[in-house]
Amino acid sequence: MTKYEPVIGLEVHVQLLTATKAFCGCANRFGSDPNTNVCPVCLGLPGALPVLNAKAVEFATLAALAINCEIRERSIFARKNYFYPDLPKGYQISQFDKPIAEHGWIDVPTADKSIKRIGITRLHMEEDAGKSLHDGFSDSATRTYLDLNRCGTPLIEIVSEPDIRTPDEAFEYLTRLKEILLYTGVSDCNMEEGSLRCDANVSVRLKGAPKFGTKAEVKNVNSFRFIRSALEYEIERQIEILEEGGRVMQETRLWNANEGRTYSMRSKEQAHDYRYFPEPDLPPLVVTPKFLADAKAKLPELPEARRKRMIAEYELATQDAHTLTASREFADRFEAAAKTAKSPRRVANVLLSELGGRLKALGLEQEQSPVSMAGVVLAADLLEEGKISSKQLKQLFDVSFEKGEDFPAVYEREKPQQITDASAIEAMIDEVIAANPKQVEQYRAGKKTVAGFFVGQVMRAAKGQANPTLLNELVAKKLDG
Ligand SMILES: [Zn+2]
Repeated sequence: MTKYEPVIGLEVHVQLLTATKAFCGCANRFGSDPNTNVCPVCLGLPGALPVLNAKAVEFATLAALAINCEIRERSIFARKNYFYPDLPKGYQISQFDKPIAEHGWIDVPTADKSIKRIGITRLHMEEDAGKSLHDGFSDSATRTYLDLNRCGTPLIEIVSEPDIRTPDEAFEYLTRLKEILLYTGVSDCNMEEGSLRCDANVSVRLKGAPKFGTKAEVKNVNSFRFIRSALEYEIERQIEILEEGGRVMQETRLWNANEGRTYSMRSKEQAHDYRYFPEPDLPPLVVTPKFLADAKAKLPELPEARRKRMIAEYELATQDAHTLTASREFADRFEAAAKTAKSPRRVANVLLSELGGRLKALGLEQEQSPVSMAGVVLAADLLEEGKISSKQLKQLFDVSFEKGEDFPAVYEREKPQQITDASAIEAMIDEVIAANPKQVEQYRAGKKTVAGFFVGQVMRAAKGQANPTLLNELVAKKLDG
């Protein structure tokens, strides 16, 4: 492995979340009864003419801007000709030598915690084909069924430069790309429903070799984890061939997740010649400066920029910022809550550790949480003001989850007792100090963090009911005194 360097490029197809299809008025919807969202245009009946969906152009432009592409003012649709039963027209409308966008990039984190820029060759618009159904019917052994609802669904295809060097980088690239696309709202990126699909080109070469090796294309992989596994497998397979003095074939391979291996689907000799030519039924697509300016204005703050800003604005830990920005909706809800709270950082802590931990343990989503965002803010404020201890917060959250009640209601009813009598707290501190002379010595020798030990001991003795602010103050005073 150390002698060789893998070279990986990724092609990602993304279905756009438009109400209607790319070139006709049919509903663009997943899960309808088979062959109900079809018309003469998407069925390719004689004489039917395509009309480009403006929303699809807007979404393609938004996606292209979000991955730092240059938008071509005048792009050309082309026919990509091939015969397949789920493609009734006999060609797919795509873009060939003049795609709508080119020359973009995405920054991804690498194993050594630095940032690597992965180039994006192009983003072009095209339409999806229908679906051949090979399984699930009583006569599936002898027949294939066709569902043409997907014909004409608007797609963008995003092609990366061969800049990726490890399966992990490929995984990160896809993760970032999906996150960015979700933020722009142009697709739901649902891989189970095929809204996001990925093909990988992979080759290996001796380290430092000037030329790329012969590549294989791995197709039809339906999760980012599987892509990583398929690439790991394929890299090893190709190195083995080269080490044995053989030659890697240029071919298309399929990933079999059950067997954990790829196998050959077709060789280059059998590969399609698509006979591209400009689509005669569609004029060139012109993106005017006004259209481009409007798209730029609609571009939301993207995940990486948002994380940086939130870390600075709310003093968040990097990992917390990542979790909070996992989706745009979650980040929006956090920020709305944080603005009303005494300490945004405290809100993040309660939300991620107390609430997030409980939800995760129960396998619940944020939307199913018995504690609302307002409840999280109240809990964070009470903690911040020292009106409840973290132990009391845990107990109240437990009640919330047991009874399915929001935090403010539980807090009102069960307002925990708090010891705010300084002399009572001081008496407890004296006891703990007397019982732990070694720690007192350490503290007085300069190890100030030992104060936390005393706070913890007294809090335990007080069954979590000592006022935390007062307790901290008094412990410091006693130890210093
Ligand atoms: Zn249609």
